[in-house]
Formats: sequence, structure tokens, C-alpha cells
Amino acid sequence: MALLALLLMAASAGVMLLVAHASAALNATAVHWWAALSVGGLAVMTAFIRSGATLALRDPSLTLPQMAWTITSGAVAYVLAGEARGLVPSVLAMILFFGTFGLTVAEVIGIGIYALVAFGCAIGVSSRLSANASGYLDTAYALMVVIVLGGCVALNLRIHRIRARLQQQREALAQALDINRELATRDELTGLINRRAMLDLMELEHRRSLRSGRPLLLAQLDIDHFKPINDQHGHATGDRALQAFAGTVRAHVRDTDVLARWGGEEFVLMLCETQLDDARELLERVRLAVEALEIPHATGTLRMSVSAGLALHLPGDTVVHTLERADQALYTAKALGRNRWVVAPSGPQHPPRPAAGPSPFNARV
Ligand code: GH3
Ligand code: MG
Ligand code: MG
Repeated sequence: MALLALLLMAASAGVMLLVAHASAALNATAVHWWAALSVGGLAVMTAFIRSGATLALRDPSLTLPQMAWTITSGAVAYVLAGEARGLVPSVLAMILFFGTFGLTVAEVIGIGIYALVAFGCAIGVSSRLSANASGYLDTAYALMVVIVLGGCVALNLRIHRIRARLQQQREALAQALDINRELATRDELTGLINRRAMLDLMELEHRRSLRSGRPLLLAQLDIDHFKPINDQHGHATGDRALQAFAGTVRAHVRDTDVLARWGGEEFVLMLCETQLDDARELLERVRLAVEALEIPHATGTLRMSVSAGLALHLPGDTVVHTLERADQALYTAKALGRNRWVVAPSGPQHPPRPAAGPSPFNARV
């Protein structure tokens, strides 16, 4: 914008110089000085903007100083142009339109008043200087300046209103998008992230652990005998039990661990930068906390227990496969009698074996 303003100012100065050379009535020296100062001033401001020195300012594009400078230059041009001063109002319109892009409403009004005062003075001086000019032309030019000014300020304000409305609509759209994103990634009942968001997070953590070499552990959790809770106490109590379960598990893991509702009464816990022994301790804490949980219902309180399968994510493996290993370990925990956790063997060379017999899993007994 600053470069464009500079270019337009240079072109307008060129027209003034043409007029000065063609008409003996104009003071050519004064027009040369005017052209040099007008273009030079804008060139200095443009250089400042391009250098980045204005970036810390509230108005880094120096719109207000540029406009004040060009309006002053236009007013001086009105005096210097003599009988060619009819050219100036169109340039004034151009200057005022530059304000649309960088000024507030108050600044547009302020700059409009400044232009009115500057051109009022210029009209006064030029009508005094051109003693033998036809009075009607002076009046016509003065009226043109006022008309251009009024029209430009009114249009500017209108454009400002439209921009403000567009901004409001953009913000409303961004808010709606945020809500949509939230709905798409969160489970409404428990407030936990859902399977889809968890898969994204796991992929991210998988890449992070590949880079850092720090362990990543995934645990699949499933509430034991949840169906009878629904059957005996109703779906609403079942829902409250799910909420209480989610809250309890969250309260017993670190802020950096992520718990997601995988579906129904199944949950996935991702433990980042955690050693296997710490994860075992954590799952035991969670198991005990769930066991101690009491959910009140119409005729008393109900209790739950949880089974879990834990798998260490191996570098080079996929998170989906690690989850399958955790799921197999969970299956083993269920088969071993529930209310326990089992660690999946690390490595594809150890396929899961039936739970009976000497256990290949680090089952809690
Ligand atoms: P297991 O110990 O083998 O895991 O047995 P289970 O009864 O927990 O497992 P099952 O898969 O047979 O039953 C899961 C139940 O979870 C069945 C379903 O009605 C209930 N369920 C799933 N989603 C919701 C929910 O959002 N709210 C409620 N109240 N119940 C749910
Ligand atoms: Mg279950
Ligand atoms: Mg289940």
C-alpha cells in the first residue's frame, strides 16, 4: 500500500510538473520543490515501513502520517496549481480511500476534518492570490473539494461498517468451528476425548517417542460385568457409573497421561515417558480406586471393578498393533478372573498364550 501511494504521488507530481512547464502562470521553482518534498516525504516513510522499524508501532503501515502528509501536499498543490487546481479534488479522493484500509472510524472522521481545514486554508489563500480569477470557478472548486470530502468520508464509514460485520461473521464462524471440533473429538457423557481424537494423539506420541527414544505405553481398560449394572439399576445409573469411573481414573493418572473413551465401557489410557514398572504401579492404583468407588442408586450403592491390558509400544511397530496387544492382555485379564491387569509380552516373537498354566504375562494375582 505504501509503495502504491508513493507511485501515485510520483505520478501526480509528474502531472503537476507538466502543468508547471506548460503554463507560465505557475511558479516552476515552487512546483519543483513541492514535488521533491511530497514524493521525498512519502519515500522516507515507505523506507521506514520496508525496513521493519515501524513494526512495533500501533499503526505499522503509518497510514495516518502518510495521509496527513499527502493531504498537506494536496492543499499546497491546490495553491500552486493556479488555474489547474481543478485537478486536485480527484487526487484528494484517492488519498482518502487509502484510509479505508488502515484507519479506525474516529481516525477517518479526524482525517476528514483535517482535510477540510487544510483545503479551507488552501482555497482561502488561492482565491486571495488569484485576484483576477473568475470568482465562480473558485467557488465551484471549493464546492467540489467539500463534495469529494463528504462523499469519501461517508463511503469510508460505510466500508468500515461492512468490514466490522464481516469480522463479526468470521468470529461467529470460528466459534462454530471450535464447537464442531469439540463435538467431533469429545465424548459427551464422560468429557473424555473420543477414539478418533485418541488415535490422532497416539500417532503424534508414537512419532515423538521415536525421536526421543522415551517409552510409550498403552492400556486398554474395560469395566467388569457392566451389563448387569445397566440391567439391574437402569441405563441412567449405568451412565453415572461411567462418569464416576472416568473421573476416578483421571484423578489417578498424571496430567500428561491421556484417557479416552474407546466406546461403551471400554477406555484407553496412554502413558507417555513412563517406565513399565511405574505403569504397573499406576494401573494397580487405578484398580484399587475403582474397586473403592461407590455409586449411589435408588436402593443403595453399587461397586465396580476394572480389568486392564497394558502394552509397551515398540519402536517400529504401529500404535494399532500395540493396541491389539493391549487388548489381548485385557482378554487374558478377563479370563484370569477380572479385577486385574496384565502386561502384554514385548515383541512379536511372543504371541499371547492362553491364560492357564505358567503365565507368560505379568499378571497381578
Ligand atoms: P465384561 O466383564 O466381560 O466386560 O462384561 P460386561 O458386561 O462389562 O461387557 P459387555 O460387553 O457384555 O457389556 C457392556 C455393556 O455396556 C453393554 C452396554 O449396554 C453397556 N454400555 C455401553 N455403552 C453405554 C453407555 O453409554 N451407557 C450405559 N449406561 N451403558 C453402556
Ligand atoms: Mg466390560
Ligand atoms: Mg467391553
